[in-house]
Order: sequence, then C-alpha cells, then structure tokens
Amino acid sequence: MTTRTRFAPSPTGYMHVGGMRTALFAWLIARQSNGKFILRIEDTDQKREVSGSVEHIYKCLRWLDLIPDEGPDDFGGKFGPYKQSERLDIYQKYAQKLIDAGRAYADPYTPEQLDAFREEAKAHKKPFLYRDYRPENPPAWDGSQPLRFRSEPKPYTWHDEVMGEMHAGPEVIDDFILVKSDGFPTYNFAHIVDDAEMEITHVIRGQEFLASTPKYLNLYDALDITWPIFASVPPIMNEQGNKKLSKRDGAKDILAYREEGYLPDAMLNFLASLGWNDGTEQEVFTRDELIEKFSLKRVQKSGARFDEKRLLWLNGAHIRNIPVDKLYEYVSPQGDNPQKDRGQTGFWPESAYAPNITKEYRMKVLALAQDRLKMFEDLRGFGYFFAEPEVNLELIDGNKQLKKLSDSERRELLETARAELAKLAGWTPESIQNYLNELLEITGQKPGILFSLIRIAVTWAPFSPQLNDTLALIGRERTLARLQSYLDMKLA
Ligand code: GLU
Repeated sequence: MTTRTRFAPSPTGYMHVGGMRTALFAWLIARQSNGKFILRIEDTDQKREVSGSVEHIYKCLRWLDLIPDEGPDDFGGKFGPYKQSERLDIYQKYAQKLIDAGRAYADPYTPEQLDAFREEAKAHKKPFLYRDYRPENPPAWDGSQPLRFRSEPKPYTWHDEVMGEMHAGPEVIDDFILVKSDGFPTYNFAHIVDDAEMEITHVIRGQEFLASTPKYLNLYDALDITWPIFASVPPIMNEQGNKKLSKRDGAKDILAYREEGYLPDAMLNFLASLGWNDGTEQEVFTRDELIEKFSLKRVQKSGARFDEKRLLWLNGAHIRNIPVDKLYEYVSPQGDNPQKDRGQTGFWPESAYAPNITKEYRMKVLALAQDRLKMFEDLRGFGYFFAEPEVNLELIDGNKQLKKLSDSERRELLETARAELAKLAGWTPESIQNYLNELLEITGQKPGILFSLIRIAVTWAPFSPQLNDTLALIGRERTLARLQSYLDMKLA
C-alpha cells in the first residue's frame, strides 16, 4: 500500500513552528517511503478563518520546499477537493449513513438545557457525559440542530508510533457533535471522513489530539473504517521547558525567519530536531539525510524545547556548507532567491550596490563572509568592503587590550604598520600574512593587540574575516588611506 501522509492546517493566519514541524514529519515519512504528501485545508471553523491564510500556508511550504503531491488549487490530485469547505456534500453523505444506522441523532437541546445537565452532573459529583442525556425521541434532523454521534462506549487499546501502546476505558467515550447547526462538520468528524476518503495511511499530528483518540476510534468503528497509523508528536515548549511555547516566548511566524535570513535547510534541520534525533551525536543534517534517517519511533514523547540560539547556530553551519554562488543567490535581490521581496539590495548593505561595485567583487566579499554569517542579515556588517567605514572609537575604548595603550602608542604602532605596508612588494593574502608576522617581531607586540588595532583602524567593525584576507580584498590603496586617516585623526 502506498504511504499517504497529510498536513491539515486550519487557515487561521499564522504558521507556527509546531505546525510546520508536523508538516515536515509528514513530508519526511512520505518521501522516505516513496509515498504521497497531501495538503488539506481544514476550514470548517469559519469564525477562526483569517483571509489570506491559505496563500500564507502555500508560501511557508514553498519556502521550505515541502511541496505537497496533492492539495488545493494548483497542487491538484484525484482525491479533491482538498479544502473542507468544498466537501460538505461528502460529510452529508457520511452523516446520513450514520443516521440510517442509528448512530447519529439530532441534538434537541438548547445551550441552557445543556448547562442545566452539566450542573446536575456536578451536583451528583459525576463527570458530565452527553450520552447520559440522550433524548428518547430525537427530532428528525433538519440541519438546524447539531448532529451528534451516538457512541458505543467500550475500552480501547491502540498503538501510537510515538507514544507506544495506549489504553483508554469506556468512560472517555461520549457522544460528540458531528455537524454543527451552521451546517459545517466538526474537526472530529471531518478529519476522519477525509482521511478515509483520501486514503491517508499515517495520521501525524500534535499530542493535543491524543485524549480524543478513543472517541475517534469509536467513530472509525461505527463507519467501518480501518484505523490509520497514529503518531502523536510532542508539544514545543519554551526555552526553559516549563510551558508550551507561545508568541510571548518569542515564537514567530515561520516566514519571519525567512525575512531575517535563515536558510530553508537550516530551518528544516531545526524543526526536525524539535523532538527527534537519530541516536548519534550528529546535529547538522541535510535534507537528504533527514529523509534517510528520520523515524517516528525515535520521536520523543516529552515536550521539545525551543531554543532559537540553536537555530542560529544551525543556520551558520548550513550557510558554511553551501556553495558560495548558491549563497549569493539567497542574499541578493535577484535570482533564484526566496528573499526576493527584500528590496533593492537584498541582504547586502546599500553600498554593495554602488555603481562602481561589480558582482565579482561582491562574490569575493561573500566568500570571505561565508564562514562568519549566522544569518543573512549579518551581511550588513560587511559594509567596510564597499564604502568608507564610520569611525567608532568605542571599539578601541571598549577593547580590554587596546585601551591599555596610550593614544601615542597606538599611533606609533599604526605608523610603523603603514610605513611597512607601503613598501610591501605583492598584495596577496600570503604576502600580507608574511608581512604581519614580521611586524609582530618588529614591534614586539602580541597579535591580540597589533592585529586588532589594524583591523579596527581599517574596518571600524567589531569582527572581520581573517586580517590578511580582509586587507587583501580591501586593497593596498584603501588600506593605506584608512590607516592614514587614523593617524590624521585629531583626538580630544
Ligand atoms: N486542523 C487541525 C489543526 O490545525 C489539524 C489536526 C490534524 O492534523 O489532524 O490543528
């Protein structure tokens, strides 16, 4: 049987990390078994729907390249429609089947009556169950009342790929609403019908649905539908691990990470690591490695901690692993770049697109910057390769080693450096490195002092690629001129 997994988001306007991780797990299972990954939009709760969310979901999936094999609109497929709001006649058919079999009834009660039943149960210290209040002669269902499932309480044992063997007693089985009085099915009903109609083999979703699973099993049985494989993935917790991740803990919409300059593959790696590891020390996984190694059996049962610093670290690791021309496309405003909509200069500082700057030169800067980028936005800190940097004396005053030297000692060092550099025969990273080593001997200084001072005077940046590479690319003339500006600087 072909493996068929699905991602079934509700269009509520926001794609959180947990939702996208579910999509990834479902996609990985489909890819590793040559199966199909299906997108289904669960839009039966019209009150919660936010316009534009469906496109937003597509955008998120496209960014991470988790392309559904079947789904609404252009994705296509022969099990459509793939939006629940377009499948009402299908739910109607199933509802009728249940009514005909005596397994569904029109709920005649007003909310006030239901409240009274609840109070009564409370007074008797009994849990409230709808099935204790089934109407003896329910009215014929005309669609104006909710349609309720007539459950058959019994104990259940089932297997969950993540949680293992699960058991539940008959007391958790109750009559639940199948179709609301607005004519739309509930999630509880619709997803079971759809998963069956779409021949879904694996239901992968958050643990919040675990408690309801026995109720679902009762409905599968009533409809004579074979149970799918269940996998309930753990919740994502805040960094401290003491509560579920919320927007207040800094949880962002997935596309916000794209805007900040994260690589899709780093995001995938990060999402996969939220609750999964392969049992080794390996932390950086390519997309293909994830497909090969991912397994639901190795997904942890307990909550997964969300640590954005880890994402940043993974992003740096993935950035280092891609060819520089591919990276160029990601950070630049044109080309095969998912960050296309980032304005005139992409992630580059404005000065990188000054008329005298060539693509070739930008590529050289990028090759040096690559090792140091944690996210694409960091590229803005490399402006000194393109334009004259702004003096920032804080970098000297705040430097433990440099602030120990007097102003005249610093000038003396830079004067020597400038004079020697001017005489240097070639201007390559190698010749500059040799010269820098000599300079250490001439001045008797430590690299931490001498190299930092030169670097700051030439870049006015807190970090740079290796000094010899940096100077080589900035060029002899500009390097000497910047050192000279330092020497000309009048300090109060
Ligand atoms: N529409 C549900 C949600 O967004 C999907 C749950 C499921 O995957 O079955 O939470």
